[in-house]
Amino acid sequence: MAEPTQTAKVLSVTDLTPNVRQLIVLPKTRKLSFQPGQWVSLKLPVGTKPPLNRAYSLATPESPSGELTLVFDRVPQGIGSGYLYELRPGDDLSLSGPYGNFVLPKPLDREILFITRYTGLVPVRCMVKALYAHRDAPPVLVMAVGPAEDELVYHYEFLSLAMTRASFRYLPLVASSEEAAVGLTVSMLRPFIDSKPKVTPLVCGTKGFVRPLRDYFIEAGYDRKEVKTETYD
Ligand SMILES: Cc1cc2nc3c(=O)[nH]c(=O)nc-3n(C[C@H](O)[C@H](O)[C@H](O)COP(=O)(O)OP(=O)(O)OC[C@H]3O[C@@H](n4cnc5c(N)ncnc54)[C@H](O)[C@@H]3O)c2cc1C
Repeated sequence: MAEPTQTAKVLSVTDLTPNVRQLIVLPKTRKLSFQPGQWVSLKLPVGTKPPLNRAYSLATPESPSGELTLVFDRVPQGIGSGYLYELRPGDDLSLSGPYGNFVLPKPLDREILFITRYTGLVPVRCMVKALYAHRDAPPVLVMAVGPAEDELVYHYEFLSLAMTRASFRYLPLVASSEEAAVGLTVSMLRPFIDSKPKVTPLVCGTKGFVRPLRDYFIEAGYDRKEVKTETYD
């Protein structure tokens, strides 16, 4: 069950790309217990009727210290992300959670295919970290589309994982619009899907990206329930 709202202190602020920022926060009252892929709800003191609720996925699995890693992009005129961009170490945040069902399937009996756009990679990064904390990780392919080369979140971390773990493959892609991201992803996806054994697809990003990809899998013979999705908007 989700925990009630509590205050968390911002411990650090780091820019991961020119427009993506990471906050490490520490809940002050209770340690959060969560599954990789889940998210917290932030209650932000902004907007016409505060608090403004905004969901953010956890980027790093549960740690003994209880610290939580949040990663978000700077949305032009975005009220919530604009507020988060103002936060400094020592500031407080109200949050509740964890929530969500976008988690690793059980059993892990097929290749896992993560498909993400931009910060849709955040919950996937958490799941990948959890999977590769063990020696026997199942085969994983991450297809991550970013809006520009320097906006590919966790790019070097994933490149390095692909070089050190034989079962991990990483395909970074760049497309400036949502529509272009869908077209490019589908074209790169076909050789992995058409006439191949079924994989477990997990797709994350905004609806304009996630829905056409889910439809692609359904047209390719997948049951709707076999395609796990998380939409951000
Ligand atoms: C379950 C869940 C998990 C989420 N996890 C994350 C996360 O880990 N990192 C993260 O950056 N965001 C995440 N989001 C989105 C986040 O909650 C906010 O919607 C986002 O930060 C925009 O809020 P805002 O108030 O700044 O923008 P708003 O003023 O609400 O404007 C939203 C508009 O900005 C555009 N947009 C650009 N980038 C995003 C984005 N990342 N998400 C949503 N809309 C976007 C969309 O076109 C959307 O219509 C998640 C959302 C959900 C539902």
